[in-house]
Amino acid sequence: MRSLWSDEEEKQCSGDLGLRVYSSRLLGRDKSLVLHGGGNTSVKLRERNLFGEEQDILYVKGSGWDLETIEPQGFSPVHLAHVLRLASLPTLTDPEMVNQLATHMRRAAAPAPSIETLLHGCLPYQYVDHTHADAVVAISNTRDGQARIREVYGDLCVVIPYVIPGFDLARVCARAFGEHKTANTIGMVLMNHGIFSFGTSARESYERMIQLVCLAEDYLGRHQATAVASILPAATDPLAQAELRRGIADAAGVPMILKTCTNGRTLGFARHPEIARISQQGPATPDHVIRTKRVPLLGTDVSRYVESYKHYFSEHAAKASEPKSMLDPAPRVVLAPAFGMAAAGRTAKDADIVEDIYAHTIDVILQAEALGGFQALPAQDIFDIEYWDLEQAKLKKSGKPPMFAGEIALVTGAASGIGKAAVASFLARGAAVVGVDLNPAVESLHTRPDYVGLRCDITDERALLDVLREAVLRYGGIDMLMLNAGIFSSGRKIADLGSDAWREVMNVNLDANLMLMRACHPYLKLAPGRGRVVVIGSKNVPAPGPGAAAYSASKAALTQLARVAALEWGADGIRVNTLHPDAVFDTGLWTEDVLAQRAKHYGMSVSQYKTKNILRTEITSRDVAELAAEMCGPLFAKTTGAQVPIDGGNERVI
Ligand SMILES: [Zn+2]
Repeated sequence: MRSLWSDEEEKQCSGDLGLRVYSSRLLGRDKSLVLHGGGNTSVKLRERNLFGEEQDILYVKGSGWDLETIEPQGFSPVHLAHVLRLASLPTLTDPEMVNQLATHMRRAAAPAPSIETLLHGCLPYQYVDHTHADAVVAISNTRDGQARIREVYGDLCVVIPYVIPGFDLARVCARAFGEHKTANTIGMVLMNHGIFSFGTSARESYERMIQLVCLAEDYLGRHQATAVASILPAATDPLAQAELRRGIADAAGVPMILKTCTNGRTLGFARHPEIARISQQGPATPDHVIRTKRVPLLGTDVSRYVESYKHYFSEHAAKASEPKSMLDPAPRVVLAPAFGMAAAGRTAKDADIVEDIYAHTIDVILQAEALGGFQALPAQDIFDIEYWDLEQAKLKKSGKPPMFAGEIALVTGAASGIGKAAVASFLARGAAVVGVDLNPAVESLHTRPDYVGLRCDITDERALLDVLREAVLRYGGIDMLMLNAGIFSSGRKIADLGSDAWREVMNVNLDANLMLMRACHPYLKLAPGRGRVVVIGSKNVPAPGPGAAAYSASKAALTQLARVAALEWGADGIRVNTLHPDAVFDTGLWTEDVLAQRAKHYGMSVSQYKTKNILRTEITSRDVAELAAEMCGPLFAKTTGAQVPIDGGNERVI
């Protein structure tokens, strides 16, 4: 590990708080120091209040902020004198501590200050940095961890045995720090948890953190504690992954994303001869439990995991001072020799976080093993964090989940027009979306964890199966299928319609959709919220026009295919509905020139032409996309085999 400090960047920071933001971000940038909201930092500043009086303010990381992206407003300005008074109380409950901190801040709109605020306040240094550095937790999570940590740091760090974060930890640290610090002390190690550094400037505190973590890394290097990789090929079966996801979703009681994370490291770990011992002890640092649960599922028997989780809950809940209600008993990390690791979460982002955290946990465990044996905290300590009111509050903050949370939609023809709008509509409702298109623009439509764009010619069955496989390994299944890709050719009467032109339209608009439906059926059947298919038909089905025989016939056949699917798949709970849009002019098909030509042909202005329907309204891609997404939602939960026009009203259709 090396320092990322840059004199150039330092010059751009304004004031002490600006430097605090800068060095916090430097820590956040290194995933081996902190992961996803972990760790915290602070600075003590003297400020004048409205009455001109000077006050000491502790700016400490607010909960819900990530060090990597923190802004000045992510720090909560707490009155330091009050923090120190609180720390001198003989006891203080967690909810009262939170209340006291929230009511003694300089800014009403500031976030809730970190639960380690009292500890930051008690350390008598202007800047305080705290991380869960992999190298430090690897050494401390061993059988003789405390002796090893002392060997690494001597009197550079005060060493504190594990205590649950909050009031008690602050008191223990304040006392032990006062007793054991020497002139050489630049940090403090919390066993099985993490490390603190401090200093009189942002840079000093940051550089000391790097120095201390380097000492731990050097120690690991001297003991040749490194990870193993497996080169045996993985056998990832997408259908088996979808079945596993269904099991996990059933255990959780809600749809879940399951990401398969197959690589040399996860395979090597999952195939480790001692995997049953080393993986079933606990997390590298306690607050990971909120994301990963205490231990991974080994193998794919979800019901066995659920049983053992229930047992863990009842055993430890019985010892708690207040009644606890059980969280969902579904695993978040799965380890299996066939695919290495899989990570589960309520959203694609959550699953990515679980993957990141466990990838670091693998390193920590293997390094600790090389030091003579990984040894995590006892289950009771982990339970106390998992069922701690304050941690629970963090998770509950998010409120009601969106309509399609944990679900996956696949949209064809996603690079433009209705398909592109549908991607946005499904994303807005919380689904993870797989966009498929021949146009490579589909790949860069969105850069976010819940979207993947795959380029594919859907008339090529092999390519199509590859796309489905990739989608399922990325998110765990396919719950909603939107058949949108299609081509339109007109202006040719039947007498002039060549067989090749006919076949081309049929290939894309009909045959490819049959292949897609056939290949997606096993996944739709496994959908935790029941499978749904939305077919984009056309006004031409109920009201064909001359000159578009191939298009109209292909859409009519597709509609009939959807009706038969509704009949055949009803027993599997899969709903299949069709939309018949008309005159959607904001798609790639309709350039301004074409529009002007068509309007002229009818003796109309462009805007008259665009609204030549009963309601005199213009139909946009977004209108169709929103209806398509809603048809997959609860409003249409009891509708299948329907054909719904979205055309502003058309006399021939009505
Ligand atoms: Zn911590």
